[in-house]
Amino acid sequence: MKLVIVGGVAGGASAATRARRLSETAEIVMFERGPDVSFANCGLPYYIGGIIADREKLLVAKPQLLRDRFGIDVRTLSEVRSIDRERKVVRVEDLDSGRTYEESYDRLILATGAAPIRPPIPGLDLPGVHTLRNLADTDRIKEIVDRGARRAVVVGAGFIGIEVVENLVHRGVAVTLVELSDQILPPFDREMTTPFEQLLRAKGVDVRLGDAAEAFEQESDHLKVKLRSGIVVETDLVLVGIGVRPENILATAAGLETGPRGGIRVDRAMRTSDPAISAVGDAVETVDFPFGAPTQIPLAGPANRQGRLAVDHIFGREVAYRGTQGTAIVGAFGAALAATGMNAKSLDRAGRPYQAIYVHPNDHAGYYPGASRLSIKLLFDPADGKVLGAQVVGSAGVDNRINVLAIAIQAGMTVFDLEQVELAYAPQFGSAKDAVNMAGFVAAGVVRGDSRVVLPDQLEAIDAMLIDVRSPAEFARGTIPGATNIPVDVLRNRLGDLPRDRRLVVFCQVGQRGYVATRILMQHGFDVRNLSGGFTTYQMARPT
Ligand code: FAD
Repeated sequence: MKLVIVGGVAGGASAATRARRLSETAEIVMFERGPDVSFANCGLPYYIGGIIADREKLLVAKPQLLRDRFGIDVRTLSEVRSIDRERKVVRVEDLDSGRTYEESYDRLILATGAAPIRPPIPGLDLPGVHTLRNLADTDRIKEIVDRGARRAVVVGAGFIGIEVVENLVHRGVAVTLVELSDQILPPFDREMTTPFEQLLRAKGVDVRLGDAAEAFEQESDHLKVKLRSGIVVETDLVLVGIGVRPENILATAAGLETGPRGGIRVDRAMRTSDPAISAVGDAVETVDFPFGAPTQIPLAGPANRQGRLAVDHIFGREVAYRGTQGTAIVGAFGAALAATGMNAKSLDRAGRPYQAIYVHPNDHAGYYPGASRLSIKLLFDPADGKVLGAQVVGSAGVDNRINVLAIAIQAGMTVFDLEQVELAYAPQFGSAKDAVNMAGFVAAGVVRGDSRVVLPDQLEAIDAMLIDVRSPAEFARGTIPGATNIPVDVLRNRLGDLPRDRRLVVFCQVGQRGYVATRILMQHGFDVRNLSGGFTTYQMARPT
C-alpha cells in the first residue's frame, strides 16, 4: 500500500501517523507546500501576543521526528499541482528547485485545509494588510507589532479575529474591530455574544458592528482604512479575518464532487467521489450532527479525527464519521464563549422546531469566594426534549459545561437526562445542582408543561401584561419598559389586581423567582409565561 497525503498539518499529519501505527509496511508520503508540518495554527495568535514566547513550541512535530519515529517520507516545500486519477499519480513541484515530478499512489488523502477569504477590497495587497493562516503570516504580523505598531484594524469578528484582537491589546496596540454583521462571532446567537462584546469594549477595543472595510490606502508611514460608514481609520496594521474557503483546486481540477460552498464531498468513511481518494479537514463538506445535513465547519478537532478515521477505513476498519457538531470555544480577556450543536439561527434555517431556555447560574457555589456568572442557552426539541444545541458564556467553567453538553448531544440525551446527570461537585468547582442540571431542570419543566416560557424577541408579538416580580429596589434600578412591579413574595395577595382575560409575562433577574411566580399564577388559572433567564437575558438580547 502506498499512501500519499497532500497537506501536512492537522488532518494530514494525523492521517500519516495513524497510517504508520496501523501498518509497518505501508509506504507513506506526505507533501506540504509550506516549510513546516504539523504546526499549531491555533496557537498563532498567542505567539503574536507574546503569551507563547517560544516559536519552536508551535512546531508540534517536526519533519525529522515524523521521518525518524514514523518512517514517513515528509516532503516540505513540495506543492501538489495536479492529480491524474486514471494513472493514480500526482504531479508535484519542488518549490526549492522548481523541478516537477510525478508520484504514484494506491490511496490518496487530500488534507489541503482552507484559505482565508480575500474579498475584492482595493488595497488588499498592500504590505501592511494581512491574513493569518500559517507561521509565515504570523512572523510578518508579529514583526510589525515588535517594531512598535500602535494601532491595528481587525476586519472580521470571527474566532481568529477575536483572538488576534486580544493578543494585540495585550501588546499595547489600540484595536478597531470591524464586523459586517450586527454582532461579533456570527456563529453564535447574537444575545449570547453581548457579554463578550461588552468586555471587548471595556478593554478599549473600538468595536464597529454593521460596518465594513471598503478600501485600504497607503499613507507615507501608515495605512488608512475606509469604512462603509464613511469613517476613515488610520492604522499601522490590518488583519483581514472574514472566514475561510476550502482549498479545493486540486479536487475540482481532478473532477471530484464539491458542495455549493466548495467543500469536497465525502461519504461517512471520508471517501470522495473517487473511492481511491479521501479528503479530510477544512477542505471537505461533511454532515452536521445530529441531523446529517451538509455542512462545512473548519475546526481542528474534526480535521484531526477525520484524518485518523479516513486512514482507519483505508486500512480496512469499519468506521463511520458521525458528523461535525461544531463544538467550539473562544476566549479573550478572561472570558469564554462556547457552543455546541445547533443554534437558533441554524435551526431556523433548517426549519426545525425547537425551544430555547436560558439560565444564569454561578460557575461554582455562591458562598465560596470567586463565583462568577455563567449564561447558558439550551436548545431542545419541544416534543421529546432531545438536546439540540447549547451556548455558554462566562469567565469560569465555560469549557467544562460546553463539553458536558457536547457529550449529551453526541449521546442523543434529552433535557430529562440533564436533570439527572451526576457531575463532580465541591464548592470551588461547581454546585450541588450544577449549571448543567439547572439548564436541565428548566428545560424539562417546559417540556413537561410545569412552566411556560417566553424569549425576549417574542415579547412584542405576545402583547402580554409584563410583571416584574423582583424587589422594588431592583425594579427601581431598571426594568423592561411598561412592566408593573409585583414582588413574588406578595404576589398571592395581589391576584385580584391581575387581569384574567389577558396573557401575563413575569420576569425576575435570572428566571428563578419568575418560575416561582409562574407556578403560583398557573395554579390560580392565569395564562402566564416566564421570561426565560429574566431581566439578564433581556439585557443580553437588548443591550442599551
Ligand atoms: P490545515 O491545518 O490548514 O493544513 C492544510 C495544509 O495543506 C496547509 O499547510 C497547506 O499549506 C497544505 N496544502 C494545501 N494545498 C497543498 C498542495 N496542493 N500541496 C501541498 N500542500 C498543500 N480550530 C479550532 O478548533 N480551535 C482553535 O482554537 C483554532 N484556532 C485557529 C487559529 C488560527 C490562526 C487558524 C489559522 C486556525 C485555527 N483553527 C482553530 C482552525 C484549525 O487550525 C483548522 O481547522 C485545522 O488546521 C484544519 O486542518 P486541515 O488539515 O484541514 O488544514
